[in-house]
Amino acid sequence: MSTKTLERPDVTEDDTTDDDAPKFFHYVRKEKITESAVTGTFVVALCGETFPVTKSAKPGSPVCPECKKIYNRMKK
Ligand SMILES: [Zn+2]
Repeated sequence: MSTKTLERPDVTEDDTTDDDAPKFFHYVRKEKITESAVTGTFVVALCGETFPVTKSAKPGSPVCPECKKIYNRMKK
């Protein structure tokens, strides 16, 4: 495993929202996702949203627009 200056964030589902609310996936650092999945701690997404990781992102799931914006800005 190589360490880069900026970890490539992975997407993870915000499962704290109501059932009828649209479910977004947030960008969260990969090592935090693993940590949260094991210990149940809350992760902080790029947009500042905090939630415990319960599921990983499915292809085609909507990504949090705020996270996407920040992530695209970070890539430059
Ligand atoms: Zn987000």
